[in-house]
Amino acid sequence: MPSLMQNWPLVVSKLLDHAAQNHGSQEIVTEALEGGTHRTTWGDIAHRARQLAEGLQALGIGRGDRVATLAWNTYRHVECFFGIPGAGAVAHTINPRLFAEQIVYIANHAGDRILFLDLSFVDLVEQLAPQFETITHYVVLTDRAHMPTERDIAFLCYEELLQAQSGDFAWVEVDENDPSGLCYTSGTTGDPKGVLYSHRSNVLHSMASVQIDAFQLSSRSVLMPVVPMYHANAWGLPYAAAMVGAKLVLNGDKFDAPSLHAMIIDEGVNITGAVPTVWTSMLHYLEQTEKGLGALERVIIGGSAAPRAMIEVFARRFGIEVLHAWGMTELSPVGTVGTLSAAAAALPPDQQLDLRCKQGRALFGVEMIVCDDDHESLPRNGATPGRLMVKGPWIVERYYRQEESALDGRGFFDTGDIATIDPLGYMQITDRSKDVIKSGGEWISSIQLENAVMGCDGVGEAAVVGIPHPQWGERPLLFVVRKPHAPVSGDDILRFLETRVAKWWLPDTILFVDALPHTATGKILKTELREWALAHTRG
Ligand code: ADP
Repeated sequence: MPSLMQNWPLVVSKLLDHAAQNHGSQEIVTEALEGGTHRTTWGDIAHRARQLAEGLQALGIGRGDRVATLAWNTYRHVECFFGIPGAGAVAHTINPRLFAEQIVYIANHAGDRILFLDLSFVDLVEQLAPQFETITHYVVLTDRAHMPTERDIAFLCYEELLQAQSGDFAWVEVDENDPSGLCYTSGTTGDPKGVLYSHRSNVLHSMASVQIDAFQLSSRSVLMPVVPMYHANAWGLPYAAAMVGAKLVLNGDKFDAPSLHAMIIDEGVNITGAVPTVWTSMLHYLEQTEKGLGALERVIIGGSAAPRAMIEVFARRFGIEVLHAWGMTELSPVGTVGTLSAAAAALPPDQQLDLRCKQGRALFGVEMIVCDDDHESLPRNGATPGRLMVKGPWIVERYYRQEESALDGRGFFDTGDIATIDPLGYMQITDRSKDVIKSGGEWISSIQLENAVMGCDGVGEAAVVGIPHPQWGERPLLFVVRKPHAPVSGDDILRFLETRVAKWWLPDTILFVDALPHTATGKILKTELREWALAHTRG
């Protein structure tokens, strides 16, 4: 017997309609690429997103077509986030920091028909255009006055495209299970793989992430997602912001600490989110300038492990709560958030900090287990690491254009992470399965070791890799970048570690370098570090 409730489709356009109707005057502020600060509202964005959808139709875009963006965090990109799915098409965000060959591979694999690009990428796109097999139109996200001239490509102007439309446009009707977005994993191992989000998965993901035990977003939030919109949809934050009518502050192409700091202060940002490297620079800047963080209350940190020292400084010096979150492109991307449960809040402060350093508790909608190599579930005792497996409505079932399912026989997706889950439900990532160091048959957690090193005075950044060892199988080798003018030595670090990690975890070799290699999403590139380490051991 069918139920007797309404079948109200969970589609992305409903998020924007809600924001426009109920929070129409709420602001979206952008550090404009053309210079200056641009201000608009959810009401305006909703009108312009309809114009965009109408314009896409005029350019021949229909249901299921892929439309790509190569763009920073701006209000126009937000319009694309809603206007493209509003036309029934799929918004494919491309990461401009990828290697050129990867950008070409991704655009061709996706079969993108139109590319929206920021002014910063005009040269890049012109250079790559001959290799794009399916793109027929290139639209520059700017107005006529700033359009590039004398180019080989007949670039279209975004503002002109919008102006030519009435905006009196009904969103294209789609099923909630139709695709609305496409994002490729950064391909640190092998070719990038496409994750095709549905309208439903995006709406449910937003609903979960605004909750009090997640990012705690509301219309009182002044949210600055520093995480780029091309990195797993800025963790879904633009959609979540529309759901609750939050004020959005968008940093354009500015990622340096002084610019971010100015935006936090000037706009009254009370919640922001970014990978740890952004906060390393920010804390350094604050230390040098002795500045504060204004109205900021919460910082979402994810993408890589947030070091304990970072969480502690935010809490103790600035009274700011770090929401340590874990996720991946395949999870839309949020899986866990480290808010305090009732049991955790009853613990002494030091133990609370221990829990905040873990990657957090599963949101409703994420079933999470750890299991061994034979797919047997392991105990939730906080001590036995295993493969982290997840299931849920915003988790990938299969990659774009792949025949085989990405799930195991029980319907779980193997995240490729190694983790423990404790009796309170807190999950802790101990490694990527490919980064784990196996010494004398036991695992050394490179993440825990790195975090411990980060607590040592004078250490700016640290990374550990395993190198082959005749007796132990593998031993840890530590790379360290010193903070400017800090004289910290290898012995200082070893002495510091002695009381913090097991003796057999102590790195055999410590190498000081000027900088560590990073991936396009700001993670340390361990594959390259392993080569450096091998080159070193070969002498
Ligand atoms: P890619 O694997 O292509 O870099 P993602 O950007 O989706 O793609 O990265 C997902 C991975 O990032 C996770 O599987 C995990 O290894 C790592 N990660 C994400 N958040 C955290 C965190 N808070 N702590 C440790 N690792 C994290």
